[in-house]
Amino acid sequence: MSENKIPYKIYLNENEIPSQWYNLRADMKVKPAPLLNPGTGKPMTAEELSVVFCDELVAQELDNDNAYIDIPQEIQDFYKMYRPAPLVRAYFLEKALDTPAKIYYKFEGSNTSGSHKLNSAIAQAYYAKKQGLKGVTTETGAGQWGTALSMACAFFGLDCKVYMVKVSYEQKPFRREVMRTYGAEVTPSPSMTTEVGKKILAAHPGTTGSLGCAISEAVEVATSNPGYRYVLGSVLNQVLLHQSVIGLESKLALEKYGEKPDIIIGCAGGGSNLGGLIAPFMGEKLRGEADYRIIAVEPASCPSFTRGKFAYDFCDTGMICPLAKMYTLGSGFIPSANHAGGLRFHGMSSTLSQLYHDGMMEAVSVEQTSVFEAAEQFARVEGILPAPESSHAIRVAIDEALKCKETGEEKTILFGLTGTGYFDMTAYEKFNDGLMSDYIPTDEELAASISKLPVVNE
Ligand SMILES: *Cc1c(COP(=O)(O)O)cnc(C)c1O
Repeated sequence: MSENKIPYKIYLNENEIPSQWYNLRADMKVKPAPLLNPGTGKPMTAEELSVVFCDELVAQELDNDNAYIDIPQEIQDFYKMYRPAPLVRAYFLEKALDTPAKIYYKFEGSNTSGSHKLNSAIAQAYYAKKQGLKGVTTETGAGQWGTALSMACAFFGLDCKVYMVKVSYEQKPFRREVMRTYGAEVTPSPSMTTEVGKKILAAHPGTTGSLGCAISEAVEVATSNPGYRYVLGSVLNQVLLHQSVIGLESKLALEKYGEKPDIIIGCAGGGSNLGGLIAPFMGEKLRGEADYRIIAVEPASCPSFTRGKFAYDFCDTGMICPLAKMYTLGSGFIPSANHAGGLRFHGMSSTLSQLYHDGMMEAVSVEQTSVFEAAEQFARVEGILPAPESSHAIRVAIDEALKCKETGEEKTILFGLTGTGYFDMTAYEKFNDGLMSDYIPTDEELAASISKLPVVNE
């Protein structure tokens, strides 16, 4: 280790934080399919989208052409509070695995929300404030997005209403308290406070909820209250755009030491951290300037990429949102109440879906207990207690490093460590007590849910 010049942590300085986001879509030959209006089957217009989303965010959502978009100064200033995020060379993990591979991770967990989600939350809150809105509504699964948005809304003095998936609300009471500390109003979903919540509860009494349900409720509240818009923490093009700061910083930090990843790995819930991490690398790949192996990791309990269908589907259970073309398990799919809370969405970013469909990236699914084994191994040597979601990427980074041990190849692996797991101790407790199980949906279950996809003439 002493002869190696690469430090344990590579920090950029403050003025190396990106001043522009990179829009991957500009370099895609086949653009992601547009959102469709479920009523007319036609692409959603900016006007239609602006009923639900802030105007500037609608423009970003529809922008397939501009490669670079300026980050407003206020957002850059906020980023300075917790960015640049360190890029860490996992020397201790490499040693523990006895691998010739070089392993790097980009650590996004060093802010109070504990994840990368703040990168987009602050941008979305900024544009809502700029538009003169009173507040925003949203859903949260594991709670990281709700926390990040609460922080961002507190900063800009916006009202924040969060619908939290019921299973997480019950498993993570302290998450709720952090959100309330930042001034948000938190409701477990499905709830009796919305029409769509009442309907879902009537159809599935006792349900532990899903992101799809919570999205429906949050959208209903935003569209029925003047001065409110809905914001989403993943899946959408605009969110991937904001998260490109992760990849831009990673690439710059690696370049300082002449390093170039062979394999880039990220966990995939709705695809925002992965889309952000890979953005500049995928850009090079799309332009034919470089090649990288890119791997999305998803839970075996909610395997959108690996077992889903590439088709138009609703983003929400209540079927009130636009249709997105993506790898989906069906909007009625409610994953088992396992612990990969932030990876429980039935669909996937349409940008990443198109790239996966075009063979530009790979996907694997991993089981929960093997994810926690990786989490524990990582925590013990690298010090950081990882979020269960992030640990999906750790699992595959370890697996790839072990393959290098067999073949003797000195590959460079970069993975996204999206957050910390301090609020996930119920899951860690189950794992430590040997009570964690793996749930893999059957083919019949998935077929039943996928058979209910909406019929769309493309
Ligand atoms: C939300 C979350 C994810 C998954 O969301 P993506 O949009 O797929 O990135 C992963 N890790 C953490 C820590 C999260 O909070």
